[in-house]
Amino acid sequence: MIEETEISPQHPRAESLINREKLIKHQKLGIVALAGLIAHGRGEAFDYLLGEKTTENAFKAIKTAAATMLLAKHPVISVNGNAAALAAEDIVNLAKVTGSKIEVNLFYRSLERELAIKRLLEPLGAKEILGVGEAASAQIREVCSERRRVNPRGILVADVVLVPLEDGDRTEALRKMGKTVIAIDLNPLSRTAQWASITIVDNVVRALPLLVKEASILKNERPEKLRKIVSDFDNREVLAKAIKLINQRLSEFSRKGVYISEVIEIYQNLEG
Ligand code: ATP
Ligand code: MG
Repeated sequence: MIEETEISPQHPRAESLINREKLIKHQKLGIVALAGLIAHGRGEAFDYLLGEKTTENAFKAIKTAAATMLLAKHPVISVNGNAAALAAEDIVNLAKVTGSKIEVNLFYRSLERELAIKRLLEPLGAKEILGVGEAASAQIREVCSERRRVNPRGILVADVVLVPLEDGDRTEALRKMGKTVIAIDLNPLSRTAQWASITIVDNVVRALPLLVKEASILKNERPEKLRKIVSDFDNREVLAKAIKLINQRLSEFSRKGVYISEVIEIYQNLEG
């Protein structure tokens, strides 16, 4: 039995704390690697700088990602421990709506972790989970970590791969193999964000439900409309806007010296 810390919904950072608790719980269940907790912290720091909400810019990338997955011949959703812990249901729903395969792909590979992720996703309605054990028999030469092992029916033959929370090396390798890579990464400066074809600079917790919703809407559209959405998209512009947003926010807060509105009021009262 795993104990869970209760988090008051009144806490000003309740959502962030709930996500942390989810990761801790799933680490104890063998789904999240210890290093996954550190990776989450890196993401949280960028979320703070971005304002912890889905920007219009990120939404544009989400819409393009949905159109790209719907147009793909062999779309695959690559899943690691953090993604499974934070958004298992959305991953399964997205696979259903877009006709994607789900493949487990871990940086810190172990059969137990692969099986634990499979056991988490299957009861939610996932049809088939690739990448578990011997099934991941093919190798991507360009990748030097354990993540090089892929399923010959999944990532190896995919034309579009969605990588929520990815390592830069593998994103680079997948691009060099000619695949369209959709990344969800809060850090617009990471190698993943920079190498991806479509970078959704947002938290997976917010981005994945929106991606499911957008794909459900666009599913009824004609392919020409989807192709237009894709051809109008410019990933460099998306990255530039995300970096600019961080820059602008930091400039504003650095002028004021404070960021939290109640604290600003206290300062103003003291001055006035
Ligand atoms: P890269 O390998 O791409 O250069 P990195 O080495 O800096 O990135 P990793 O530890 O490989 O980072 O992967 C963690 C990445 O996942 C970070 O870029 C972080 O911003 C991002 N991240 C962590 N948690 C989330 C989350 N909940 N939503 C979106 N992105 C996240
Ligand atoms: Mg990395």
